[in-house]
Amino acid sequence: MKKYAVPVLLLLVFLAVGVSLWLTKGNLFYLFNFSYIGGSIALGMILFIRRYRHARRIVQLLVGLYMLVYLGLINRENMQIEGFWYYLFSGVFEAATIHYAVAKIFGPLIFGRGWCGYACWTAMVLDFLPYKTPAAPRKKLGWIRYVTFACSLAFVAALFLLHAGNMEGIMFRAFIVGNILYYACGIALAFALKDNRAFCKYICPITVFMKPMSYFSMIRVTCDKEKCVSCGKCKRVCMMDVDVTDNSRKRKNGTECVLCLECVKNCPKGAL
Ligand code: SF4
Ligand code: SF4
Ligand code: SF4
Repeated sequence: MKKYAVPVLLLLVFLAVGVSLWLTKGNLFYLFNFSYIGGSIALGMILFIRRYRHARRIVQLLVGLYMLVYLGLINRENMQIEGFWYYLFSGVFEAATIHYAVAKIFGPLIFGRGWCGYACWTAMVLDFLPYKTPAAPRKKLGWIRYVTFACSLAFVAALFLLHAGNMEGIMFRAFIVGNILYYACGIALAFALKDNRAFCKYICPITVFMKPMSYFSMIRVTCDKEKCVSCGKCKRVCMMDVDVTDNSRKRKNGTECVLCLECVKNCPKGAL
């Protein structure tokens, strides 16, 4: 039972967050929401411990579909970055702002880019495409993410400056159009560059929040140099081109690690 301590602990942390928000905000939804997400992640960890090879994909589907379909399409909550700016400018500390604070701004100090490996509904689809590891070295196109970040901010700021009416309706349509654009662009790029995660590497604006925070992540993959035989397999299986054998925080593409643990599973010496 000892080996299940971490998932149980994680579930308790999510339950504690859910109960706190339920009691402070007087909304039972938070208890349901955090129990569901914590339960899904804990289930995935248990499956991983039991060496089930699709454990991560199951968590991606459970959390990603819940957020896209239930929160986004049914509850009309815009969880895209435009939704975050909208609720932030409105001074509303509700679902989307809480979601960003927990999963994408402060959470990465603890679990790095775990969101990108286990919960993102864009990557949930991209990870089904055929190019699980990049066919070519990374391109110097990471600057595009700052442009998309600025565009999302400018879009919402313009709506406020122009005193646009029916902002809730606009935000819902922005959620639909934004997701269609993300999927179309992500799938096209994956095939063009033969890399499922090309969208994550070059375009996604959310990484502007996550990369600096995940630099300090408590949870990270490290290498036992005594065991490592420098075979390079970990780098070959990494979808994000991380130099995982370098233990320093400045390692190449270190803030890109999505904690998928493919390197850990594939290391022949158990060095990671
Ligand atoms: S980089 Fe963006 S699109 Fe990719 S997994 Fe992370 S949040 Fe999702
Ligand atoms: S796969 Fe393992 S042994 Fe091979 S280089 Fe990576 S850490 Fe070292
Ligand atoms: S393969 Fe290893 S280094 Fe690469 S993203 Fe996954 S966990 Fe991180």
